[in-house]
Parts: sequence; structure tokens; C-alpha cells
Amino acid sequence: MPPTDRAVDILLVGGGVASARCARTLRRNGFDGSLLLVGAEDRAPYNRPPLSKELLRHDLPDELLAAEPPSWYERRSIELRTGTTVERIDAHERLATLSGGDTIRFDRALIATGAEVLRLAVPGADESITLRTAGDAAGLRRAAVAAGTAAPVVVVGGGFIGLEVASSLAWLGLRPTVVELAPVLWGGTLGVELAAWATARLSRAGVDLRLGARTSRLGDGAAWIGDERLPAAFVVVGVGVRPRTDLAETAGIRIDDGVMVDAGQRTSHPAVWAAGDVARIDGRPRIEHWHAAREAGERAGLSMSGLPVPPPPAPWVFSEIGGASLDVVGTAEGWDEERWLDRDRTLLAYLRGDRVVGLAAIGGAIAPTEARRLVEAAVTPDEVVVTLH
Ligand SMILES: Cc1cc2nc3c(=O)[nH]c(=O)nc-3n(C[C@H](O)[C@H](O)[C@H](O)COP(=O)(O)OP(=O)(O)OC[C@H]3O[C@@H](n4cnc5c(N)ncnc54)[C@H](O)[C@@H]3O)c2cc1C
Repeated sequence: MPPTDRAVDILLVGGGVASARCARTLRRNGFDGSLLLVGAEDRAPYNRPPLSKELLRHDLPDELLAAEPPSWYERRSIELRTGTTVERIDAHERLATLSGGDTIRFDRALIATGAEVLRLAVPGADESITLRTAGDAAGLRRAAVAAGTAAPVVVVGGGFIGLEVASSLAWLGLRPTVVELAPVLWGGTLGVELAAWATARLSRAGVDLRLGARTSRLGDGAAWIGDERLPAAFVVVGVGVRPRTDLAETAGIRIDDGVMVDAGQRTSHPAVWAAGDVARIDGRPRIEHWHAAREAGERAGLSMSGLPVPPPPAPWVFSEIGGASLDVVGTAEGWDEERWLDRDRTLLAYLRGDRVVGLAAIGGAIAPTEARRLVEAAVTPDEVVVTLH
């Protein structure tokens, strides 16, 4: 078939929650022009958080992941093109080239291409499992079931994904060991107090931790720390992601650890917005969390509609560590003291001077929306304690 050249009002590039949320916001605010969402995966936008949690622990239908019900796209006149990659954007000509050769003219475009997993740069790393897509999760669950109860497994990386995967594998009865390069979990970004809590929690759940340990190679049914052999039925690597900026880069859009955007998610090109894991708001660290991706998609939708855009809220990441829920709200940087605010040690404050710049809540110690309000208001620890009673 010869390539077609057609036109849409708004092109959403990337099939994740940032794109889906942008589409929803546009329609909710009365935008009735044509909307085309192009996604490389062969399915409609879905939520990734359950991939390392419920979906790994249980044999669940993965339709549960859908960001929107399947009928929603048709009802809201959102054209969905899955299994298709946008290979090039010419921002000046407002032209996108799709895999297969079709070209799409657009008036405005959103780049929401997300992030891709980093590989471990050691011999044998090709044999390891990484986790980003629903397909990856299905493969990991199959490997866990095939390995069987009490099988030793190794998870490289002591960040959120690594700790969630290890927790779920332990729940399934396997014996995971987490190997983390830094001497403290989360690379130290969340301090020693929360890391000590997580260490104890994971240990009770049956997860071994090897901190300050460098994985030197994988292979022969094992992960290796120098000459030390850690037997492993399989190895999962969760050592971070990198933003998929290639499209924006070739379009001449400004990049600096992500596609640079203002608070309205506008890039350096007036026809192009960016949102989600791929984007970074100027002057702030890039965020790779589910709420942030959705909220950025919503801000892009408002901004594309010419409506007022609220300021980005405090970051909020939710997780599950050894069976306990954990919500971390606020900055992971720039704090100088950590302090538990309750006797049971379920609410940890990160302080800059006498002001709370972050809160970590275990087991729902405080509603995340309330935590956000307090962090955004830069209250004192006493003011947080008052709200607990
Ligand atoms: C296993 C796992 C567990 C997680 N758990 C949590 C959690 O508990 N809490 C939390 O806050 N966050 C969690 N996250 C992070 C959260 O899921 C991400 O922040 C969120 O998915 C980012 O959404 P996005 O739309 O920006 O990008 P993505 O979800 O990465 O989606 C981008 C999509 O665009 C597609 N794409 C890329 N390039 C192109 C192209 N050129 N053309 C067309 N399509 C393209 C990709 O294939 C992908 O489908 C988790 C992530 C993973 C992987």
C-alpha cells in the first residue's frame, strides 16, 4: 500500500497513561477536533503499577490493567492506532512519519513516549529479565511459576521496582536475593530510616539483601558478586530507566535529561507538548511515577485547550514493600533531616530546616492527598502531627 498523508488536529505519540489522560482532558473540556493516539505496543494504554505487584502474585486477566475501558475510545471519538511507532516528527512541517510509511499532518502534537529500561552492563546480562510491559510481566510470572517454591532467584537493583518484584516473588514462595550497589536501599535517596524499615520488612517477608554489592556477571544459573556465586533460577534486573527522547531530539526540541517543558508541558517548539516519564519540567527533577504521568497528561490537555493550567503538585509515588503499602510524597532531594512523627514509626518527615519537604507514609498513615497539601504548604513537623489527631 502506498503511504497515506492525512491530517489530524491533535496527534498523541505514545500509548501510555500520559497520552490517555491528555485525550480525556481534551474531550472533557470540549475539544471536538480530531484526535489520534499512536502507540507502539499492541494494546490500548494501560496502568503499569500492578505489573510488579498484583499481576505478578496472582493469575489475573490483564484486561484489569486498562487505563480506560475499550469502548471509551470510540465513544469519545479518539482514534487509536496500536502496534505502530511514530518514527519521525518534523515539528516545523508539523508532519509525523509512522512505521509502515504513513504520514500524518498535525496541528498540535504530544510526545509521551515514556521511558525504557536500562540494561545491566555486565557479561550475561542478555539472559536476564527486565520489567516494563505487560508482556514482560507475563514472562516473569511464567518464569516464577516454572521455577517453583523455594527456588533461589536474584533481583539486581534495590529501587522501587526491584523491591516490589522481590516482595512479590517472596510472596509466591521463591527465595529472592536483592543485590544493590549502594550501601542503602533506594540508592540512599530516601534516607536511612525508611531504608532500615524496608530492610526489616523485606527480611520478614523472606527477601535477602546484599547491599554495597556489585553484580559482576550473570550466567551458569547464577548472579556473581566477584567470585561469589548466588544461585538463581532466573535474574531480574531493575536498575532504572531512561527517557525515550529520540523523537524529540531529532525534531530539534530541547532535551536535558528528558524533553524540557514548562509547567504547561510545552516544549521548545510551539506545536509540540510533552508529558509523562519522557518529560522534565524546567528547574525540577524528572519524575517517573504514575500519578505524575497522568497529571502531566492532564496539564498538557488543559494547555493545548488554552485553559489555565494548575501548578504541578508535589510528587507522589506509591509502592508495596514486603506486603506493606508505602506512599512517598514530596522531594527526594534537598532534605537535611529525617524524623519519625509518630511512636509507631509509620510516618516519616523529610525536613529542610524546620519545614517538611517530604512525607513517607507506611500502611496509609496519612492520606496521600493530605500529605501533598502539607508538603506543598511547607508546614512544620508539629503541624503535620496536629492533622494526625
Ligand atoms: C513494573 C512497573 C511498576 C510500576 N509501579 C509504579 C508504582 O507503584 N507507583 C508509581 O507511581 N509508578 C509506578 N511505575 C511507573 C509508572 O508506571 C510510569 O511512571 C508511567 O507508566 C509513565 O507513563 P507514560 O505514559 O509517561 O509512559 P509509558 O508508560 O512508558 O508509556 C509510553 C508508551 O509509548 C510507547 N512509545 C514509545 N515510543 C513510541 C513511539 N515513537 N511511537 C509510538 N509509541 C511509542 C511505549 O511503547 C509505551 O507503550 C511503575 C512502572 C513499572 C514498569
